[in-house]
Amino acid sequence: MTTVTVWNEYRHERESDTVAEIYPDGIHVVIADALSEAGFETQTATLDEPAHGLTEAVLAETDVLTWWGHAAHDEVRDEIVERVQQRVLEGMGLIVLHSGHYSKLFKRLMGTTCSLKWREASESERLWVLEPSHPIAAGLDEYIELEDAEMYGERFDVPAPETLVFTSWFEGGEVFRSGCCYRRGNGRVFYFRPGHETYPIYHNEAIQQVLVNAVGWATPGDGPTPTFGNYEPRESIALSDDRTVH
Ligand code: ZN
Repeated sequence: MTTVTVWNEYRHERESDTVAEIYPDGIHVVIADALSEAGFETQTATLDEPAHGLTEAVLAETDVLTWWGHAAHDEVRDEIVERVQQRVLEGMGLIVLHSGHYSKLFKRLMGTTCSLKWREASESERLWVLEPSHPIAAGLDEYIELEDAEMYGERFDVPAPETLVFTSWFEGGEVFRSGCCYRRGNGRVFYFRPGHETYPIYHNEAIQQVLVNAVGWATPGDGPTPTFGNYEPRESIALSDDRTVH
């Protein structure tokens, strides 16, 4: 069974009454509940736990990690970022949510600034499904409509995604690549835009469906473990005299 670790910065919920009203136990609990209802084994981890809750042991048993952070990206220790990145390269799936676009982890995996335009004006957002046959779009309508959203606008400074599953349109006129699939090493990475802390986005059924689908998609496959380095020929071939074979 797929084991999911739901990571959350978990600061806004403890510092703002507005956010606490929407997510009394934290964003991570709402996401974890939706995922376990769908049949995944879930656990949570937060910034203020030792090692941010992401010990070697936790990561070793994690098939897919979800990441929500916003106000304290800088407090995530570099050695933990390195540890998570290594697990992604080994094959762990990663789902980066909303303001996680600016996390150390996502910026490192993308290699770009991951900057974007933003505006907080409770405007509506329509997320159009661009790839209906993609597993992340399973069970959805042609679009998801969110009444109140924070705007994220292009340009979003990320590498061109391997597959773009959603594009958002905002009431104010901007567009945004909202569902971006990548592979890094053996790991699958999905960036999903919705999820501002002052709107009840993660209570939305369609959004929960996307999260469930994304965990399924990002679950490691069981392909071969690649070997690297100097390699003996599979067939009998002539080696040049000056070549050293170790
Ligand atoms: Zn936000």
